Amino acid sequence: MALDFDLIVIGAGPGGYTAAIRAAQLGMKTAIVEREALGGICLNWGCIPTKALLKSGDIYEQLGHVADYGLSTEKPAFDFDKVIGRSRAVAKQLNGGVGYLMKKHKIEVLDGTATLEKGDPAPKVVVTLKAGGSRTLQSKAVIVATGARARVIPAIGLVGDGDRIWTYREAMTPKACPKSLLVIGSGAIGLEFASFYRALGSAVTVIEALDRILPVEDEEVSAAARKALEKRGIKFRTSAKVTKLSKSKDGVSLQLEAGGKAETLEGERAIVAVGIEGNVENLGLEGLGVKIDRGHIVTDAHAGAGVKGLYAIGDVAGPPWLAHKASHEAVHCVEHIAGKDPAPLTAPIPGCTYTNPQVASVGLTEAQAKANGREIKVGRFPFRANGRAIAAGETEGFVKTVFDAKTGQLLGAHMIGAEVTEMIQGFALAMTLEATEAEIMATVFPHPTMSEAMHEASLDAYGMVLNT
Ligand code: NAD
Repeated sequence: MALDFDLIVIGAGPGGYTAAIRAAQLGMKTAIVEREALGGICLNWGCIPTKALLKSGDIYEQLGHVADYGLSTEKPAFDFDKVIGRSRAVAKQLNGGVGYLMKKHKIEVLDGTATLEKGDPAPKVVVTLKAGGSRTLQSKAVIVATGARARVIPAIGLVGDGDRIWTYREAMTPKACPKSLLVIGSGAIGLEFASFYRALGSAVTVIEALDRILPVEDEEVSAAARKALEKRGIKFRTSAKVTKLSKSKDGVSLQLEAGGKAETLEGERAIVAVGIEGNVENLGLEGLGVKIDRGHIVTDAHAGAGVKGLYAIGDVAGPPWLAHKASHEAVHCVEHIAGKDPAPLTAPIPGCTYTNPQVASVGLTEAQAKANGREIKVGRFPFRANGRAIAAGETEGFVKTVFDAKTGQLLGAHMIGAEVTEMIQGFALAMTLEATEAEIMATVFPHPTMSEAMHEASLDAYGMVLNT
C-alpha cells in the first residue's frame, strides 16, 4: 500500500499539535486527527481557560484591598456571565491559533475520530469523518496523543451529572456562581477551582483523602498553601475520604469518613477532581497488542508504544499529566522518528498550581531526597524579607531549596507566593544544567525582583543568607 503520510498524529492537544509542527519542520508529510477541538483539553477546557478565570478572581480579590495601596474604588462587583465569557473567548482565540499553525505548516487536519488497525510500516489509521464517510490511511509512523479525561468513580457518585455535580468541564461554564461548593480532591484542579470560586464569594470546602493538601508538593509548601487558602476563607477537610456524593433536594449531599466517623456535608454544587485517566479506549490498541497499565499506554525511552511505527506521548502515556511534558515528549519523539538523536527525556519537569498564592516546584521534595538516601542541605527564604515583594504588598510565601550535601547538586526547589510559576523556570534550567550551589550563587539576580529569594534560599542552604 502506498504511503498517504509520513506521520499521522491522533489528538491535537499540546502533545499532538506540537508533534505535527515539529514533523512538518523536518519535512514530513503530516496529518493530525482531532475529534473535538484543536488545542485539546489544555487550550479549550484546561490550562488556558482556567487561567483566564483565575485572573478575573485575582483582580476581584485585589479590588478588595486597594486601600492598602492608597487607592479607592467603588464597591467592586462582577458579572459572572462576562467572567465565563472572557474565559471562553480566550480559549477560542488559542483554538484559532492552532488552526492557523496547522495551515502555516501545511498539516492536513482531519476532523473526525481515529482507530488503529494492523499495518506496515506502522498501524493503519481509520478516520471516521465528522462530515461523513471514512478514510483509511497508511503512514510511516503514528503518534497517539489522545490525552486524558477526569477520573470518575460512579460507584460512590463521583461522576459529573452535567447539572450539580461537575468535573472540570462543567466547572468552567456554569450559569451562575454557586453560593456554596464542595470540592473533592486537593490536587491542582480542585484547588484552582476552589481558589477561583472562593475569590468570587462562594463558601468553599475542599475534601482530601490524604493528610495534607497538594500532596505531591513539599510538606512545608502544602502547610503554607493550606494556611494561605484558609486565610482567604476556604475550608479544608483532610484525612477525609468521600464515600458517597449525591443530589439532595436543592443541591448536593456528600458523605465522608474521617477518623473512623461518618459525616454529611451539604452544598449547592460539587466539583469532582480526583485525578485523570488516559483516553485509551476505542482506539484498537488491544488488537495491536499495545500494553496498557492503569489506563495509560506503556512507552519506552523514545515514546515508542511497543508496536512497529507506533508512539504515544502526553497524558495518554502516563504521569506527570502536564501539557509541557506532552509538548516536550512530542519534539523528542518526532526527532527520534526522523532519525535524529534528541536529548533523552530526563529533564526535570516543573509543576505549577495557579491558586492565590501560586505554588511551583521542580525536582525532589525534602522528604523524597531523604527517602532516596541523600544527605541534603536545605535552604529557605521568605518573601516577607524581599524588597520587591514588600513594595508589591505580596509578602506571603517562601522559596525552599534542596541540595545534595556531598556534590552540591540542586535536587529540588519549591516555592509558594505571587507569580512563582513565572520563576520556577530558573531552577528548572539550573537542574537541567546539573547546576550546583556554586553556579547558583555565582549567578547575578536582578534587584529588586522576587527572584532574589531564589538566590537567597540557595545561600541559606550554605549558611550565607544575606537578608534574614
Ligand atoms: P490529582 O491526582 O492531582 O489530585 C486528586 C486528589 O484527590 C488527590 O490528592 C487524592 O488523594 C484525592 N482523592 C481521591 N479520591 C478521593 C476521595 N474519595 N475523597 C477525597 N479525596 C480523594 O488530580 P487533579 O487535581 O484532578 O488533577 C489531575 C492532573 O492534572 C494532575 O496530575 C495535575 O498535575 C494535572 N493538572 C495540572 C494543572 C497545573 O499544572 N496547574 C492544573 C490542572 C491539572
